[in-house]
Amino acid sequence: MEISYRRSLRLLLAGLLLMLLTGAYYGEEMPQNSRIKLAQTKDIVIYAGAEVSGDTQNFFFDRETLLKGKLLCIGVNSPLPHDMPVQQARNVRKLVGLYVPAAQTVNLSEETIYALCDLCAENPLVRTWITDGMRAPSAQYALQNETFEQYRKLMPASQALNKARTDVPDSGKGEHQLSAAFDLKFTGELDWSYPDPLDRSEDGRWLRENAWRFGFIRRYPPEKSSATGVNNEELHFRYVGREHALIMRIMDWCLEEYLSALERYGGITLERENKTAYVLSVPMGEHGAVFCVPEGYSCSVSADNLGRAVCMATEN
Ligand SMILES: [Zn+2]
Repeated sequence: MEISYRRSLRLLLAGLLLMLLTGAYYGEEMPQNSRIKLAQTKDIVIYAGAEVSGDTQNFFFDRETLLKGKLLCIGVNSPLPHDMPVQQARNVRKLVGLYVPAAQTVNLSEETIYALCDLCAENPLVRTWITDGMRAPSAQYALQNETFEQYRKLMPASQALNKARTDVPDSGKGEHQLSAAFDLKFTGELDWSYPDPLDRSEDGRWLRENAWRFGFIRRYPPEKSSATGVNNEELHFRYVGREHALIMRIMDWCLEEYLSALERYGGITLERENKTAYVLSVPMGEHGAVFCVPEGYSCSVSADNLGRAVCMATEN
């Protein structure tokens, strides 16, 4: 009796120590859902919850690694974290020339640029121009100032400043501080009978149907402005990786809706071609987060900048 009591105490202490070390606390938010089918297509099924079974392994990812992930939600209410690692960005033109149609000043992460190359191999986007990528904080303020000057000609200064800050958020409160976000502009003939700017160009209509296949999401769809809080960035795209983009596409979720569903369900399971992938969501600890994944799986992780960390666990 006493031995078993001591053993329980040791286990409890070990558990507490692990929590302290990782800073993560699961509490009652561990995935507990039974398999509720959320969507089914010809060869893909998406379930609410991510109940990992069989032999598993725990992986700890530190905060810096998580902040380098692809799912950070940056906005007026969720600014860039103070300890955000420096984003690595390359000049698109210098790296791949005009294979990806980008203005001379556009800088993006290599991963984003190569995903754009894959996309352009299928559709060269000859009537599209990437006008803006990652902006340094000084460039963000310069653009905000320029926008303010434009509005100032039309309205009182306080109103002009409000409008400029809506159009161009303060540095650290907009996605252009990430190296995976960019804006498009369509050239050539536009069909103005469409209310949505994305539909006015042939390239835009193609991107609406296909960008997800290359890991891109339309970040602020007009019909989702109540969820995103942004209604003036119709041609803003973001690279999140193929699996996340696939789920968001099938479920018709914007990033905010996806992250909130992950929290609500404690994760999501994706079954495709007899392979299972798990999207796990756990509270972000002070120092990082621990994910429990099946053996033989690899992880792609990210903080969501809303208090949680996400892991896409895929079969090797
Ligand atoms: Zn933008």
